[in-house]
Amino acid sequence: MRLVVIGGGPAGHRAASTAARLGAEVVLIERDVIGGAANLWDCVPSKAMIATGGLVSRTRRAEALGLGSLTPSIDLAALAGRVRDIETRLAGALTEQLVSQGVRLLRGTGRLLGPHLVEATPADGSQAEKLDADAVVLATGSYPRVPGWAEVDGERVLTTRQAYPPPEIPDHLVVVGSGVTGVEFVHMFRSLGSEVSLIVSRQQVLPQKDPEVAAALEADFLERGVRLLKGARATGLERSGEAKSVTVLCDDERRVEGSHVLFCIGSVPASEGLGLESAGVARTPGGHIPVNHHCQSNVPHIYAAGDLSGRLPLASVAAVQGHKIAEHLMGLHTRQHRHLDYDKAAAAIFTEPEIADVGLAEAEAFALGRKIRVTKVPYASNSRALIDGDPRGFVKLVSDPSTGVVLGGSIVGAHAAELVSIIALAVTANLRVVDLAESLFVHPALAEALAEAAE
Ligand SMILES: Cc1cc2nc3c(=O)[nH]c(=O)nc-3n(C[C@H](O)[C@H](O)[C@H](O)COP(=O)(O)OP(=O)(O)OC[C@H]3O[C@@H](n4cnc5c(N)ncnc54)[C@H](O)[C@@H]3O)c2cc1C
Repeated sequence: MRLVVIGGGPAGHRAASTAARLGAEVVLIERDVIGGAANLWDCVPSKAMIATGGLVSRTRRAEALGLGSLTPSIDLAALAGRVRDIETRLAGALTEQLVSQGVRLLRGTGRLLGPHLVEATPADGSQAEKLDADAVVLATGSYPRVPGWAEVDGERVLTTRQAYPPPEIPDHLVVVGSGVTGVEFVHMFRSLGSEVSLIVSRQQVLPQKDPEVAAALEADFLERGVRLLKGARATGLERSGEAKSVTVLCDDERRVEGSHVLFCIGSVPASEGLGLESAGVARTPGGHIPVNHHCQSNVPHIYAAGDLSGRLPLASVAAVQGHKIAEHLMGLHTRQHRHLDYDKAAAAIFTEPEIADVGLAEAEAFALGRKIRVTKVPYASNSRALIDGDPRGFVKLVSDPSTGVVLGGSIVGAHAAELVSIIALAVTANLRVVDLAESLFVHPALAEALAEAAE
């Protein structure tokens, strides 16, 4: 099996790695770094900055923990170095792993020349190479969407790709977009000392999430002085060179002036220039490559994964898609195989309080008219939360009232992104609430709130 993978993010890297382990002859073409946008621009740098910002933010509670008040200062150069260092280490480790598995790495740009032919144009300008392939994985990811009326300059008008960190910590950042990425950046920059205004096109931040969860985050933002402009859609931008300010114009006539603006309005799949037509691979009008449950495109030996596939745009999902593709093309799906169930993917929002959920949400169940049992335990009744001085938040568990099977859950509060994995495991393995309630968790631990919610 000769496999060519285009794109070395979580989807492409994992497809290449698993396929090589299963015996395929694999070439991986990556034009930037192994680890992809996930490590270079998205998950890793944003969470690295949030780790620093979060520490600063936690000092707000120093006095409650019996300390004098703490006033940390930000060392921008050290912060930038830290972010780069993590990326470099991860890229090095992933590259080493692939090389040790016998994957041939080509640094350059890949595109299809036909159904079984891929061209790799090296980044160093040397001659392009043509590669024959029995199977191809397209995993080129996506890039930030920018509205037609804005021009990103990387200094004052930014996308997330210029924010790790930006040339200076903004005095006043205007964030456009209140989905997951937008709210994470609000938390990050507010923690690092910026004034922040958030343009929220609906009446709630995180419009796709449980209203109770969104309300908890809004309350924190308001307490920290974040300005929320609800029901406003950004429609234009005015620059003032002299005053070094940027004004975002909204459709309801409001004008929001800040020192910097950051667009967090979604992403565009990177499918241009991939030579899809030459291989007959179909694309949606939005640029995604539609795939079936094995991640096959309309051309069965050409797979698409990750953000390009238009499924859940998460690095975690991209990696598992890559793994499943490798198993499928190596024929392993004929044995014990479970289709990827996107409804069971855990997701987290790295704000303060942290937010995470998995499976069926309460609001979704009501909309479907499905009978559920919902149990909720506040962090304030958990000893570890009180010990850590952060009793904000709650754990909510959704189960089937007749069988007790865990269907989903949401967590708002410290370490939600870690804790939700327990519910994710329960949802995937069809565990019942009694399995959680009778597990012998550590005391004192936040996980005890989960066991309690399962009683
Ligand atoms: C700010 C931000 C934060 C995020 N945080 C999280 C998070 O905390 N957790 C999470 O699960 N998800 C997070 N995501 C989403 C996550 O980053 C993406 O879902 C994930 O990166 C998708 O992986 P991928 O493999 O599809 O593509 P990518 O990671 O985008 O990698 C694609 C790779 O393909 C390469 N490439 C593109 N075209 C070509 C070509 N023609 N030839 C060769 N190489 C090419 C690119 O250089 C890139 O390296 C975040 C997204 C953003 C924007």
